[in-house]
Amino acid sequence: MPSTPFEAAVQSNAAEQAKRPGFPLVQAWQGMELGTIRRHLVAALGSVGIDEAEDDARFLIADVLAPVSLAQALADPALWSWQAAARLADLAALRLERVPLSQVLGSKPFWTLDLKVTRDVLTPRADTEALVEAVLERCDHTPHHMLDLGTGSGAILAALLSERPGWTGQGVDLSPAALAVAKGNLEACELTRRATLVQGRWGDGLGDHGFDLIVSNPPYIASDVLAGLEPEVRDHEPALALDGGEDGLDAYRVIIADLPRLLRPGGSFALEIGFDQAAAVMALVQAAGLSALECLPDLAGHDRVVFGRAGSGNG
Ligand code: GLN
Repeated sequence: MPSTPFEAAVQSNAAEQAKRPGFPLVQAWQGMELGTIRRHLVAALGSVGIDEAEDDARFLIADVLAPVSLAQALADPALWSWQAAARLADLAALRLERVPLSQVLGSKPFWTLDLKVTRDVLTPRADTEALVEAVLERCDHTPHHMLDLGTGSGAILAALLSERPGWTGQGVDLSPAALAVAKGNLEACELTRRATLVQGRWGDGLGDHGFDLIVSNPPYIASDVLAGLEPEVRDHEPALALDGGEDGLDAYRVIIADLPRLLRPGGSFALEIGFDQAAAVMALVQAAGLSALECLPDLAGHDRVVFGRAGSGNG
């Protein structure tokens, strides 16, 4: 006789269960209580080189338990089912392959939003909230038509439109798969009436002087640096959103040269940059004749955002 729900489940439809990615974990967890499973999971995550193993285990368990809390389930084993354990094992198997937590869970909190994330988009990062904040501090509620170049998940576009009900915007991305994710996020945030998405390469094909504000978090990692990043980023996030070419500045050269044409006179722009790129990006911006330049830090104090304006008689 099976002595635990796991054993019962494994034995009842062994062939089906064996196909699940988490099957080896489910087998390892047979007979264990939730508290022990949690410790086993933390150790497994740590053993593949994941630094935040405790946090990741907590997020994965919370996801399968919701709306029940971990504390509630630890106190009352009846709140913990073998179905939840099997689902946890499937999620854990992905995370053990170094799939980013955001892709395992399918979403990531950004600003006040919860955004859908797949392997087709860069996971929205806290660093990018510094860009959202910089724009909100400098651009009031007067109607703006904004452009997000390389919109990816639509994170910046959605965050800004959600804070500025009088604004409209356009997101551009080269990747149709990324645009599909952005579309889902704009729908979930009820922003589709104020936002359009187009497939394209940066500002190509967009009309002259059509935007009051242009934002972008372009790919800015130097190609050889990218090869040395952690597997979550290197192997599971889109290179299109990360690889900035030999010196990491390829995208800025294209985008910045086009800003005076795309911006309305007096319009603003905000670009996310790598922590060591402020001088190089400011030089490109100055060479393009843009002014009122500022460089703003992220929460860690690193240079993260270059903000500026187009002259009143530009272009
Ligand atoms: N900040 C990201 C990282 O370091 C890179 C984002 C980008 O290239 N735009 O992984």
